Amino acid sequence: MKETRSTCCYCGVGCGVVITSEGERITAVRGDADHPSNRGRLCTKGSTLHLTASPAASAGRATHPEMRRDRALPRGRFTWDETLDHVADRFAACIREHGPDSVAFYISGQLLTEDYYVFNKLAKGLIGTANVDTNSRLCMSSAVTGYQQTLGVDAPPCSYEDLDHAQCLFIAGSNTAHAHPVLFRRIEAARERNPALKVIVVDPRRTETARFADLHLPILPGTDVALFHAMLHLMLWDERIDREYIAAHVEGFDELRVAVREWTPAVAAEVCGVKAEDIATAAKWFATSPATLSLYCQGLNQSSSGTAKNAALVNLHLATGQIGRPGAGPFSLTGQPNAMGGREVGGLATTLAAHRSLTSAIDRAEMARLWGVDRVPDRAGKTAVELFDALHSGEVRMVWIACTNPAQSMPNLPKVHEALARAELVVLQEAYRDTETAPFADVLLPATTWGEKEGTVTNSERRITRVRAAVAAPGEARDDWAIAVDFARRLETRLAPGKPSIFPFESPEAVWNEHREATRGRDLDITGLTYAMLEREPQQWPFPEGASEGRVRLYTDGVFHTPTGKAKFFTGAYRPVAEKADARFPLQLTTGRLRDHWHGMSRTGNVAQLFGHVPEPRLGMSATDMTRRGLADGELVRIQSRRGAIHVLAAIDPELRSGQVYLPMHWGKRFLGGKDSAGTNTITNPAFDRDSRQPELKHASVKVEAV
Ligand code: SF4
Repeated sequence: MKETRSTCCYCGVGCGVVITSEGERITAVRGDADHPSNRGRLCTKGSTLHLTASPAASAGRATHPEMRRDRALPRGRFTWDETLDHVADRFAACIREHGPDSVAFYISGQLLTEDYYVFNKLAKGLIGTANVDTNSRLCMSSAVTGYQQTLGVDAPPCSYEDLDHAQCLFIAGSNTAHAHPVLFRRIEAARERNPALKVIVVDPRRTETARFADLHLPILPGTDVALFHAMLHLMLWDERIDREYIAAHVEGFDELRVAVREWTPAVAAEVCGVKAEDIATAAKWFATSPATLSLYCQGLNQSSSGTAKNAALVNLHLATGQIGRPGAGPFSLTGQPNAMGGREVGGLATTLAAHRSLTSAIDRAEMARLWGVDRVPDRAGKTAVELFDALHSGEVRMVWIACTNPAQSMPNLPKVHEALARAELVVLQEAYRDTETAPFADVLLPATTWGEKEGTVTNSERRITRVRAAVAAPGEARDDWAIAVDFARRLETRLAPGKPSIFPFESPEAVWNEHREATRGRDLDITGLTYAMLEREPQQWPFPEGASEGRVRLYTDGVFHTPTGKAKFFTGAYRPVAEKADARFPLQLTTGRLRDHWHGMSRTGNVAQLFGHVPEPRLGMSATDMTRRGLADGELVRIQSRRGAIHVLAAIDPELRSGQVYLPMHWGKRFLGGKDSAGTNTITNPAFDRDSRQPELKHASVKVEAV
């Protein structure tokens, strides 16, 4: 029997785990009491991780490379050499004939930082395309642009220990109790210790988190910016702002005053569907608390105005000086386990490594020098929705998908499925061979997964933890970084024969060391860290050379990563959701997470006990809306948007107000069945935020009918 310390692979809390294994079988998992982010706690998902590695749950694993040269035929078994040479030939020919932007990579916030780094170097360094985006685009990109536009760089300024210092918690667009359960336990403990702690929750639904709050603001979907502007209006009116802090550290105050002038509580109450006095209470508690901490997630991010929502919330902290102090600051919670690591290495089509910009000649020159290439792309590549649109139109011809399931997780699935069917070549690098995307793959490359691979991840509080293998890879499965390196070397011989390889990596540590060097002098500098140090203890960034520890909190000196050193107020306007309810589609659909499931269920869907909380797909509706349509609780209904329809059982949901319906995002074809049911995202809206390019997965207009 062996014990291996690693992390949970499910969410951005990044809990440390101790894996027990016997031979090549993982037999148990428990929380790592020494990990500073969870101190031994795990939620239901984390504590059942070992069951996802059981032989029964592993039936759907991909264990050897598969390929087909004819779409009409099933894939057959091939060797690694045969499959990778075939793909390298096809990619090289496509790039030579149609240019670097004719191919694309769609990767994942569940990859490790080392995997992410190699894919980005492969696309932006070797091929010369920025067409490398990630499912983190669906999760975190509005938080990235929100931070960039206000604080200068994509760096969450807070830590989990701020939960212990806060006197007021402002939770917006996050059902923390279900999405980040271990953090919610910490919030509960904080209130037990400090009954005076005020908790405000902003959420259209009366979730478990909202029920815990002292004040719940059940705003209408998408109206967050109106609410935040009104809170600021009141703070200005009541002189509850920190003029000294603003004068010293923030730009744009005059424009901000103009932007929020019309947002009286009465106007906002009308737009947001909440009481004016509740807005006033929220503004007062936020501004007058000795320390206010905001926690926010997909309710703000997955929106066609996601950047504005994030930035308008940061405004509240800058205006009141609630930042850079213990218990105070705007703290974006990461959805995926390593969305943060991906952001660090430039794992988005809109960024370069270590928070560099594709549009900066200096940044591009630095990356080209570090990578030993002539140039890197000078403009953004195709972001998630754009990438599949481009595949649909033929602008992008070939796609390599790694560790993600876009045929279930992208909005507007009918179009995404058409795009995958039209592609000249679909390569899928996956641990599982039974995902919704697998049938579209011409080449399936088996990858290792949790408990089998080595590397690092970074969680929501900027803490880097070593991920460790407890058992060997099944069959011929290989690590994601190693597959990407092997392919990159084969592509080099075709695109740049005779040149020395820029992929000299023989281990994840070698990849990480190059990534570390890329951060030198940047805001997230980790040149003071080594794998050996991370072996001993997880560490927060920045951790520059010479430092003895990472930084718990950013901006404690009031100096921001902008040309002037000052933060910037967001002064944009409120915009409603992209798709308004109307006579044809009168209901507002919101989507979200179930407590015990993760994303597309490729892993949690294999564990029977995780269905104990919610056993089957159900559309939540208010009793009023069900009665109005003559629907009975548990009746099969058809829910239709402008993009398609799915069939599910309807259930009375007391968390919802009339006019709104709720459907968890997890359910895919495997659970919904039926010819027209590719999954929840058959009906969701691909409209995206103009800055973050994050789609509005949280809102669509629909109609619901009895079948
Ligand atoms: Fe895993 Fe997140 Fe649960 Fe922690 S809170 S055990 S990281 S799913």
